[in-house]
Amino acid sequence: MDNNCIFCKIINGDIPSYTVYEDDVVKAFLDISQATPGHTLVIPKKHVQNIYEYDDNLAEQVFSRIPKIARAIKASSPDIKGMNIVNNNGEVAYQSVFHSHFHLIPRYSEKDGFEMSFQDNGKNYDEETLVKIKNEISKHMGA
Ligand code: AMP
Ligand code: ZN
Repeated sequence: MDNNCIFCKIINGDIPSYTVYEDDVVKAFLDISQATPGHTLVIPKKHVQNIYEYDDNLAEQVFSRIPKIARAIKASSPDIKGMNIVNNNGEVAYQSVFHSHFHLIPRYSEKDGFEMSFQDNGKNYDEETLVKIKNEISKHMGA
């Protein structure tokens, strides 16, 4: 528990939330911003700031719970046609609450107000550059 963390306060019951699911590992509650109806956050009960702080065991426990929460959201409305699952790490990546969380954002149509934009920069990368990037990542993977 981090005393200055808003999500730890939600876990602790000091701040109210619209909880859709809870067990000993995770809490899932409505994101107050409701990017689309049903927008839900899944958070580990253990305070970890970001994805880099998960050990294998925590990752296994948290990630294994996401599909059933996603299925429950999907089942909540016949209008839900898809879902974006988003995890922001670092301010530059739009993280504003530094207790790791996964956004489950149900999608109703292409014009439901939620947007992600990925540019295709593929044409700027030659084989040599891609191999160099790939190797730089691979060498940090450990055993
Ligand atoms: P991020 O920008 O990825 O760090 O997401 C943080 C999310 O937490 C935002 O979408 C906020 O709307 C949401 N949020 C902040 N405070 C609360 C709260 N008290 N209850 C529910 N959601 C919250
Ligand atoms: Zn916390």
